[in-house]
Amino acid sequence: MKRIAVVDNDKLKDADKQRHIQSLCPVNRAGTECIKIENGRLFIDEATCIGCGICAKHSDGAIKIVNLPTSAEGDPIHRFGENGFALYSLPTPLFGKVVGILGPNGIGKSTALNILAGHLIPNFGSTQEEQSQGSEKSEQLKRLIGFFKGSEAQGFFEKLASGEIKVAYKPQHVDLIPKAHTGTVRDLLLKADETDSFDRITELLELKDVLDTEISKVSGGELQRIAIAATVMKRANVYIFDEPTSYLDIQQRIKVSKFIRGLATEETAVLVVEHDLIILDFLTDLVHIMYGKPGAFGVVSGVKPTRTGINIYLSGYLKEENVRFRDHAVHFMAKPPADSEKNERLVAWKDLSVQLGRFRLSADEGEIMQHQVIGVLGPNGIGKTTFVKILAGVQKPDTGEISDKVKVSYKPQYLEPTDEPVASAARDVISKYDVQLARPLGIHELLDKKLSDLSGGELQRVAIAVCLAREADLYLLDEPSAYLDVEQRLLVSKVIRDVMETRTGSALVVDHDLLFVDYLSESLIVLEGTPAKEGAVKGPFTMEEGMNRFLSRLSITLRRDMESKRPRINKEDSRKDREQRAAQKWYYS
Ligand code: ADP
Ligand code: SF4
Repeated sequence: MKRIAVVDNDKLKDADKQRHIQSLCPVNRAGTECIKIENGRLFIDEATCIGCGICAKHSDGAIKIVNLPTSAEGDPIHRFGENGFALYSLPTPLFGKVVGILGPNGIGKSTALNILAGHLIPNFGSTQEEQSQGSEKSEQLKRLIGFFKGSEAQGFFEKLASGEIKVAYKPQHVDLIPKAHTGTVRDLLLKADETDSFDRITELLELKDVLDTEISKVSGGELQRIAIAATVMKRANVYIFDEPTSYLDIQQRIKVSKFIRGLATEETAVLVVEHDLIILDFLTDLVHIMYGKPGAFGVVSGVKPTRTGINIYLSGYLKEENVRFRDHAVHFMAKPPADSEKNERLVAWKDLSVQLGRFRLSADEGEIMQHQVIGVLGPNGIGKTTFVKILAGVQKPDTGEISDKVKVSYKPQYLEPTDEPVASAARDVISKYDVQLARPLGIHELLDKKLSDLSGGELQRVAIAVCLAREADLYLLDEPSAYLDVEQRLLVSKVIRDVMETRTGSALVVDHDLLFVDYLSESLIVLEGTPAKEGAVKGPFTMEEGMNRFLSRLSITLRRDMESKRPRINKEDSRKDREQRAAQKWYYS
């Protein structure tokens, strides 16, 4: 079996440690230099390595020795240097279709998209720098055509080589836009506009009100829509969106999805990476699954119809390739009724109201029991944080009563990446909740870094762990799913539930990924009204009551997939949609 060795030398800088690892290698001990150290970096010769794994075991995650599945036995499309990450195969843009890419973080999605966009010239695993530097871009493109000969991708690379492909690309991290651009939203978008569509697109994406705002002052959800607008204003025939829905609320996600779907015409292909499975399902015609080992290697599966593809992904097993990429299948079950009777009350409220400038918030009557996980649904700017501040006694209400004063631990929606080391920010996580939080959320491997060096998903995991490690009665997690992949979202659901079982506190989880909220929560609070003007807190309701209330206002119906039982959006005016509307069953009939 073919295997690769991947070394993260940034995590392995200590010279003594390098020498220690080298001294353990049985091949080195027998006199062959399998592990060598050059210029302070450690290298592993894959040809002589016998795959014993001893070095990996002593490396704190810096070394990975992995066996490759048969689907990855040929040359990779790209390898980031000797002992670097290897990518096998590529997704295929198809004209007239929206193609999705589904896979965990670190599996090579962005790398693959960068190659398709022409930003990264693939080296086919050749690690001799002279070779890749010396060879012309056109040579490499010719090789790509050869690589994909006979497949649907061949046509795409032929067009790319002959200059007929123009790609417009929305990157994943919209938070970085203010660092690269100054000026107003209008300036940025006018500069991006190659298709004379400024008016139409800013109207469609509801950006008219922020056009004169400085880029540095707009919210995450606005930045996301600005980035999408700037991408689609480009003249291109391949549009690539890397996570287009982070920070958007559900209404905006659906709107943006419809808009992106509309871009795929006979002359245009659309590729999307998306971790919100309900949206991925709604948005794409076909999907590629990417599997492998994050940080070590990634393989792109053949393209599959979206419904089947998502079910295969949840099942954890790719039949055609004979690859198991998760040791268990993910199941969705109709919820058992929440058993809150035996729990004590944490806090109750009655007839609350507060006026803050032009914004007014009200909450009629409700209570939260101990040990609960409550999903909170509602658009951005509707008063979720204000409500929790009232419960915490930080914000005084103008009218109404609160039974008990509760201590709140809060994870905000936008995370500030300061220069603080992870080891200091997460001190309590490690010392008090190693088994419950640090290990499942993978905090140990981040301890050597600063918060500002973390990726979006890593920062999110640290922020969730820190929030849950505080002593509190009520934990408010605002959009914990942002930048997490599907696996991590499911894992975070389990961590939040486990933590609440062992504490007297409860969690309020605000999120816009409906599948995640459904998987995680026992009951629902729904916020209704007009963002920035008026919000009304309703509930907590049972899942069914809350979802029915929320979905009826959004005017979408959800059904369960027959096979995986996951929620899916019904096509508007389909038979199921009409039946469910008539029966007022908006949530999984
Ligand atoms: P995804 O988009 O699926 O999260 P990426 O394509 O960003 O994954 O990254 C896949 C792997 O490739 C990661 O382990 C990452 O550290 C590595 N990688 C990405 N860019 C580089 C680079 N320029 N040099 C070395 N390794 C890289
Ligand atoms: Fe040496 Fe074993 Fe590590 Fe290979 S896996 S480099 S043989 S210690």
